[in-house]
Amino acid sequence: MSAFSHAILYTLLLGASVITGLFSYEGRTSLNTQGLEALEIVEAYAESSPLEEVEIAVEREEYRTDEIAVELILENGEKMKMGLEEYVAGVLLAEMPSWYSEEALKAAAVAVRTYTVYKLEASGHICTRPSHCQAFYTFEDACNLWGEKSAREVYEKMLSATKSTEGEILLYDGAPILAVYHASSYLYTRPSSEVFGGDRAYLVSVSVPFEDEGATRVQEKRISKQALQSALEASGEVEAVWDESRCVGLRVGDKTFASSDIRSLFGLSSASFEVSADGEDYVFKTYGYGHGVGLSQSGAGILAERGWSYFEILFHYYKNTKLAILKNNE
Ligand SMILES: [Zn+2]
Repeated sequence: MSAFSHAILYTLLLGASVITGLFSYEGRTSLNTQGLEALEIVEAYAESSPLEEVEIAVEREEYRTDEIAVELILENGEKMKMGLEEYVAGVLLAEMPSWYSEEALKAAAVAVRTYTVYKLEASGHICTRPSHCQAFYTFEDACNLWGEKSAREVYEKMLSATKSTEGEILLYDGAPILAVYHASSYLYTRPSSEVFGGDRAYLVSVSVPFEDEGATRVQEKRISKQALQSALEASGEVEAVWDESRCVGLRVGDKTFASSDIRSLFGLSSASFEVSADGEDYVFKTYGYGHGVGLSQSGAGILAERGWSYFEILFHYYKNTKLAILKNNE
């Protein structure tokens, strides 16, 4: 397949997966199937197109900036200086499952590097708190956790994914993107407006590969009726609100709360949930793990297993973006 026809086909297939998101569905079961169909089309394409041919279709622009040095703020308040690439490998070590295949780790490396450049340009701040910035392990941290032999194997995988994407970041409209990522989503990712406020054209809701319940990380959390009613200052019938593609809220009597706010307030694993009453409690059954915006680490792992290249994975989760290479200002 030529690079040109590849680019056309790729555009058509991306179009196909977007269109399925716009159909109206009667229920989530049919939605699930539709989302899967779109992915199967792309999957069939990926099998027919060797990676070498795909590489040709992706251009990498240059992104010029002053040399980036990371001054990482540790939990104890101390600072640690290192180069950008060393930092990216350390974040992968802390954030990514080591058994994921190379293309998923490369996609994560580009996301981590992009997020870091965005943060440093926006605020100059980067720390090791996962809830605020990104988790980070040094090689010594990994040795203490897993033993030196395992740590060395895992670190080499992460270094390799970092090295093979060295300096690569994602741009939207000529600037590095807020490349947020999360552990696992259910059916669809979330637009940034739902979680962080503000629309971003590259952080929209996209379909995720279907995962069985185990991989989706289904969890249950009980919250007493009294605690829920007093926290929300509302009472009455409680039910989860789903639109065609995802859980968007919790209705309590005549009030409705955004599902992402409910996740934060009650420490739920995910903002995708069903809720049922059981005695004096409500039982929240959650699907997925994390805020649900941007790249799904678990989804990237599945797509990589299906033969997707790292930039196909990136362009799926971060719409309308371009790959670029960091170049130092002279
Ligand atoms: Zn931070």
